Amino acid sequence: MRQTACWCLSLLLICGPSLLASAQARPLPGPDVQQIYQRLLPLIEKIPIFDHHAHPGYSDDADIDAMAAPPGVYALRLRDTNPELITAAKALFGYPYDDLSPEHAKWLVQKKAELKKQRGPAYFSVILDQLNIEQGVANRALMADYLDPKRFVWVFFADSFMWPFDNQRETARNQDEQVYIPLQKKMLHTWMQQEGLSRLPADFAAYLTFVSRTLEDNQKKGAIAMKFEVAYFRSTKFSDPSREDAQDIYERFVVGGIPSTDEYRTFQDFIFRYLIREGGRLHLPVHIHSAVGPGDYFNLTGSNIMNLENILRDPRYSNVTFVMIHGGFPYDRQAIWLAAAKNVYLDSSETEFLLYPSEFKNVLKLWLETFPEKITFGTDAFPYNDVLGAEESYWLGVQSSRTSLAAALAEMISMGEVSEAQALQMARGYLHDNAVALYAGKVH
Ligand SMILES: [Zn+2]
Repeated sequence: MRQTACWCLSLLLICGPSLLASAQARPLPGPDVQQIYQRLLPLIEKIPIFDHHAHPGYSDDADIDAMAAPPGVYALRLRDTNPELITAAKALFGYPYDDLSPEHAKWLVQKKAELKKQRGPAYFSVILDQLNIEQGVANRALMADYLDPKRFVWVFFADSFMWPFDNQRETARNQDEQVYIPLQKKMLHTWMQQEGLSRLPADFAAYLTFVSRTLEDNQKKGAIAMKFEVAYFRSTKFSDPSREDAQDIYERFVVGGIPSTDEYRTFQDFIFRYLIREGGRLHLPVHIHSAVGPGDYFNLTGSNIMNLENILRDPRYSNVTFVMIHGGFPYDRQAIWLAAAKNVYLDSSETEFLLYPSEFKNVLKLWLETFPEKITFGTDAFPYNDVLGAEESYWLGVQSSRTSLAAALAEMISMGEVSEAQALQMARGYLHDNAVALYAGKVH
């Protein structure tokens, strides 16, 4: 023991000075932090990005999400009063005005329409080029023919298999569910159509076969992962029911009738576990929405990322790659410790919109100081409306994350935690390498 410690110490003495100015971390950044930041930012801007989570598409495209956002209260930065969106429109489209008044906004809508015609299927690829995004996830109900498959890889939604019964009780819970649940039913019908089913099979084994075949066929169509947004519809605490219980509930209610809340939960808990097990078998990573969400009734307690600990730490799923979309926000401090498990990763998307860089920097800093190889970049770009499109949210996501990343790393360098070379390695990991390594050559 002592000998090893000695050896390590002498190694540190030999190599230390070249790595770090001082081998003892300090609690405050020095006066050089601003300079380091200015040096890092242009280097970070040159790193080609892999966007691990986004919803590219036009605002009138119904296939973007398997659900819709009900009217709710948006955080300050996500409101259309955010002046940064004007900067985004200037940077991407040469927007000539300094406000987004309705008559000026018309210019932007028109400009986008012209460019869509001009660029055709290259429209969104050009946006990626402008932001140095090499490739990005398109988390969509279905892929769009106007997205170039070389630049956009599909992640489909897997929740709908958990809602095959009469959903009257589920829908009646609140106004948000009145929007969400019928869309799950619609998604399920899309999969049934894809698999040539006019109605759901009467027996449970055949239902599970239908579920598996859908996953396999989506994978054949190019999907690289399945995504759950279940936190919008129910708690993410999943029990571990027996197959017999799930079968009994399925075979009773697939033909009609409304299951009790407990019965529906039991069935869903089994299906969720079945889906992630299939994710392991098919090497199809599992993305799970793990943060706050819009709407008036989104349940923060029910969607707390820690609810999933029993799943993420279950050795039966050790062959499943889990990506915790949105990094558990606002439980991002807890979330990074879930990523201690070798098959669990965090995606930072959406967090960079909900927070300003001054605070998002602190989230990234803590993550980088804990498990830097387990964190991945995403934008959560989404077409909010005609004026505030996926285009502007790509811009805001990329700019916010780059500046926050440069600031976090500058502090870490200045405080003697990492060398500049290590910091840039971490930046490349976060913006590109960590995520790309999860998909066995399918993305780059
Ligand atoms: Zn999203």
